[in-house]
Amino acid sequence: MSRFFSKRYAELTPYTPGEQPQDMAYTKLNTNESPFPPSEKALAYAAEHTKPLNLYCDPTCHLLTAKLAEVYGVTEDMVLVTNGSDETLNFAFMAFCDEENPALFPDVTYGFYPVYAQLNHVPFEEIPLTEDFSIDLDEYKKRKGTVFLANPNAPTGKAIPMADIEALVAADPDRVVVVDEAYVDFGAESCVPLVKKYDNVLVIQTYSKSRSLAGARLGYAVACPALIADLNTIKFSTNPYNINSYSAAVGLGSLLDDETNKAHCKIIAENRVYTVAKLKELGFDVVDSSANFVFAKHKTVSGQEVYEKLKANGVLVRHFTKERIKDYNRITIGTKEQMDVLFETFRKIWG
Ligand code: PMP
Repeated sequence: MSRFFSKRYAELTPYTPGEQPQDMAYTKLNTNESPFPPSEKALAYAAEHTKPLNLYCDPTCHLLTAKLAEVYGVTEDMVLVTNGSDETLNFAFMAFCDEENPALFPDVTYGFYPVYAQLNHVPFEEIPLTEDFSIDLDEYKKRKGTVFLANPNAPTGKAIPMADIEALVAADPDRVVVVDEAYVDFGAESCVPLVKKYDNVLVIQTYSKSRSLAGARLGYAVACPALIADLNTIKFSTNPYNINSYSAAVGLGSLLDDETNKAHCKIIAENRVYTVAKLKELGFDVVDSSANFVFAKHKTVSGQEVYEKLKANGVLVRHFTKERIKDYNRITIGTKEQMDVLFETFRKIWG
């Protein structure tokens, strides 16, 4: 830390992104990226439609926003496109949390939530998952504050039905419920229909997983016009040109070929079934997942050892040091071939 660093951030522990090592070619099952390249049609569309780069991109990101609104059957003022869904999350912490409205989220969830809370100096409470890693929504109903739920949750992969989230949203119309649907396309129920009925729910999705565009950094929020207007106030006060011209074009192209994305999600869901069965054969307990990853704990080998030895043998999975989950690893579902490399490597090391 330099002597110039503001005291406001002196205590901040930044988020640690999953490893992206460049030293060798790993079988990369650690950051929930898609193993499939983006749709060819999306790339061709972007090559043709990217606005000249000597000009600023459209700060309203109109074409993509309008197309997303059409896809979800809402008006354009109910959608905001952001630089990854991380940016929407940060905007939501800035816009909807303060001393009177602390952030509420599970003790085991996306690790960026506590970082955004700290960055924005908002109080937060981490509400423990139940013994089997479920989210007990009654615990949230008892408390006042802005709720952040990853659905499916990360890193557990467990999903909550829309009806349960609706009951939470309806129980207190004076709080915002943010539903982070980064992994929804792999088998969970989206809460987008709720935004047409309630003005206190904000749904966040991303192109990073199910649309194979993690590198393009595209996410979006869908909510009632007033919530989106609030997020726009934050956006236009921080970075009006948050979506570069290429990403705006490739995002639109990707929507024009969503069959390809859906077909990839179907393969991942099939590979998840295959992976769960194989991991169980190898001695793992696996949490029920609706996402493009599974959360697994070996019956005898520690989580740290699984992570370290797999890495030394060219397979990367994600290990978390938090006490409650330190015996687990989060394993991204890749192609069947990638999963076979994982199983063979495991057998080679542990027999
Ligand atoms: N939410 C969850 C639950 C995630 O796991 C991630 C990916 N790390 C994100 C949001 C952010 O994804 P992105 O910014 O790439 O859209």
